[in-house]
Amino acid sequence: MLDYHLHLWPHERADVSLSLEQIADYCEAARAAGVVEVALTEHLFRFVQSEPLVAGLFDDEPPALRASMRAYWDHHARTDLDAYVETALAAKAAGLPVVVGLEVDHYRGRMDAVADLLDGYPFDVLLGSVHWLGAWRFDDLDDVVHMAEWPARRLEAAWSGYTDAIDELAASGACDVLAHPDLIKAAGHVPAQPEEFWDRLAESAQRSGMAAEVSSAGWRKTCAEQYPAAGLLERLARRGVPFTTASDAHRLSYVADRADDLRAVLGAAGVGELVAFSGRRPRPVPVLAAASGTGA
Ligand SMILES: [Zn+2]
Ligand SMILES: [Zn+2]
Repeated sequence: MLDYHLHLWPHERADVSLSLEQIADYCEAARAAGVVEVALTEHLFRFVQSEPLVAGLFDDEPPALRASMRAYWDHHARTDLDAYVETALAAKAAGLPVVVGLEVDHYRGRMDAVADLLDGYPFDVLLGSVHWLGAWRFDDLDDVVHMAEWPARRLEAAWSGYTDAIDELAASGACDVLAHPDLIKAAGHVPAQPEEFWDRLAESAQRSGMAAEVSSAGWRKTCAEQYPAAGLLERLARRGVPFTTASDAHRLSYVADRADDLRAVLGAAGVGELVAFSGRRPRPVPVLAAASGTGA
């Protein structure tokens, strides 16, 4: 079992710090839940180096969303990416079961620039995520401006836009794992017949060669189910897409959250193997690895 999606800081915190102690605490909590390896995957938009990637990106968006996105970046993009990577490498060098990663967002039309930026770093694994369509943060459940967009838009159009964004992200080759593959459902809005979208998402994942993440974070959102939904998980598995497992914790108390429930979901889908990453290369690990010392 892995926890391949961990944040060091909750979104509400703008004043952030890096410490080996915090990472050691995460590893201990993971180990206690039978998780043998964790990936630190802070958001790329936490780092000042992301600023050029968004310059002008939202200029054509509605003013309220554009202003909200500007404020979002001003709040989050404050830390140095080099310092983050150095701390993660130090944790690894200290013998903690950690790999160095990042959660990379979809920057429409700019994934080559994203890849260029990240190319110079010794990452083990890069998660690819779609959190916004244009400047609409469709999964920002606590933000009234963004949640007010849901009734104002056509449900199928939102899902289609999300699916297109995932396809561009996957085809770019910039990332290794599709994070929370059906995040578009986070606020609880799902078409009556989602199968067409599941097929397209699974096809994009398969074509790209990426792995897909099975995440407990959805249980903590309005949608109240894991990512991906059983129907999408089954489609991904049928196409031979490999999987990671993840909590997407933003604090210690959620590290390895509901790992046993994720095991059950994987078991029901007939998935007995996961992939871990080193230097962005995958290797198979069993779902039911021993709690420690296996190297898995
Ligand atoms: Zn995410
Ligand atoms: Zn995340």
